[in-house]
Amino acid sequence: TAMSALPDALIASAIAAEEERQQNGLELIASENIASRAVRLAQASVFTDKYAEGYPGRRYYGGCGPSDIIERAAVERLCRLFDAGWANVQPHSGVNANLAVFFALLQPGDTILGLDLACGGHLTHGAPVTVSGRWFNAVTYKVRREDELIDYDELERVARKERPKLIVVGGSAYARRIDFARARAIADETGAYLMADIAHYAGLVAAGVYPNPVPHAHIVTSTTHKTLRGPRGGVIMGMDPEIGRRIDKAVFPGVQGGPLMHVIAAKAVAFEEALQPEFRHYAAAVRDNAQALAQTLSDGGLRLVTGGTDCHLLLVDLSPFDIDGRAAADILEQVGLTINKNTIPFDARPPMAPSGIRLGTPSATSRGLDQRDFREVGGTILSVLSALRAADGRVDDVAPAVLDAARDVVSRLTIAHPIL
Ligand code: PLP
Repeated sequence: TAMSALPDALIASAIAAEEERQQNGLELIASENIASRAVRLAQASVFTDKYAEGYPGRRYYGGCGPSDIIERAAVERLCRLFDAGWANVQPHSGVNANLAVFFALLQPGDTILGLDLACGGHLTHGAPVTVSGRWFNAVTYKVRREDELIDYDELERVARKERPKLIVVGGSAYARRIDFARARAIADETGAYLMADIAHYAGLVAAGVYPNPVPHAHIVTSTTHKTLRGPRGGVIMGMDPEIGRRIDKAVFPGVQGGPLMHVIAAKAVAFEEALQPEFRHYAAAVRDNAQALAQTLSDGGLRLVTGGTDCHLLLVDLSPFDIDGRAAADILEQVGLTINKNTIPFDARPPMAPSGIRLGTPSATSRGLDQRDFREVGGTILSVLSALRAADGRVDDVAPAVLDAARDVVSRLTIAHPIL
C-alpha cells in the first residue's frame, strides 16, 4: 500500500491493520464515515507545515497566500451548502466549535440549557464531566417518556424558569427531526441564544434530507466527519454578521492557535463534493438504508427508540431480548460489525452495560450498500443477538456456527462493496 513508504514500522503496520479492519468489516458506528481519496489527499498535503493564525487577508504569519485561497474556498462553499451568511471553518473538532461558541457568548456561571445526555444530547451540552457542565450552570430538558420525542413543552418550562443565556438543540443519539423553529420561539421568548449542534445530521441537512437550522438558530455548529463525509473537524456558521465576528474572535485567539490548514484544505474538498447532485442521492440513501435496517430489526422483535428514524442513526432497545448493549457490541464486533453500546432514555441499566445500541448507515452507504443489503445486515444482527439471548447474554457461550454464518455474510458484503 501507499503506507509502505513509511519508515516507521510500528506505525506503518498499525495503519495497514486499520486499512484491513475497515476494508473487511462493516462500520455501523453512526458518527463515522469514509472520506473520499481526494479528501484524504488534501489532508495529507504540505499544508500540514503551515502556520496561518488569523483569517484570510488578515494573518499574523507571512506566506499565507495559498492558505487564504483554501480557507476562502472552504468558507464560501460551506455557506453555499447551508445557505449561511457567515462561517468559520477553523475549529479543530466539534468540541472545539462548541467551546468557541461558549467563549463568544457566555461568562463562567451563566446558565445553559441542553438535551439530557441520556436522552441523546452530547457531552458538551452540559455534562458535568466537561467544561460545559463545570464552568456553566447547566440545566437540561428531556424527551417524553411516552414517545421518546423531545419534550418542547418541558424545554419551554425550564427555559422560563431558569432563564438560560444559551439553549442548545441537537445531539448524538436522537433519531428524529428537531423542530428548530419551535426552539427559536422559546429562545426568543426567554431571551436566550439558540445554538443548533448538527454534528450528526450535517450531511443530511446539506442534502435537504433533514431540516436546516440555519434560518432559525443564532449559531449552528457541526463536525465535518460524520454524515458530511469530510475530514475530522468542526465548523460554526450563522446569519447575523455581528455574531459571526464574535465567533471569529472566540475561535482565534479565544480557544485555538494556528488553524489546521491541511484539514481546512480537506474540508474545502469535502464541501465541494457535498455540493454535487450525487451527494443528495447519497444522503437520501443513508436515510432510506437506516429506515430499512430499523424496520428489519423491529420486525425481528427488537424495539426501536421513538419507533424508528428520520435520519442516519437508530437507537435500539435490546430489553425484549434480555441482553445488554455491551455484550451485543462485543459479539457483533466478533463478526465484523462495529457498533456503539448506548443508553436509552430513562435507562434502568448502567452506562457501561446499557439497554441499547446505536447503529448508523453513513459508512456502509458510502461503500455502496443499498436497502436490500441493509435488510441482510439487519437479519444478521438479529441472528447474532438471538444467539446471544439463547446463551443467556454470555458472549463466550454464543453458538460458533451462528458467528461463522454471520462472518460469511459480512465477508460477502464487504467483498462486493470494497472501499475504493
Ligand atoms: N457534537 C455532537 C452532537 C457530537 O455528536 C459530537 C461527536 O462526538 C461532537 C459534538 C464532538 O465532535 P468531536 O468529536 O469532533 O470533538
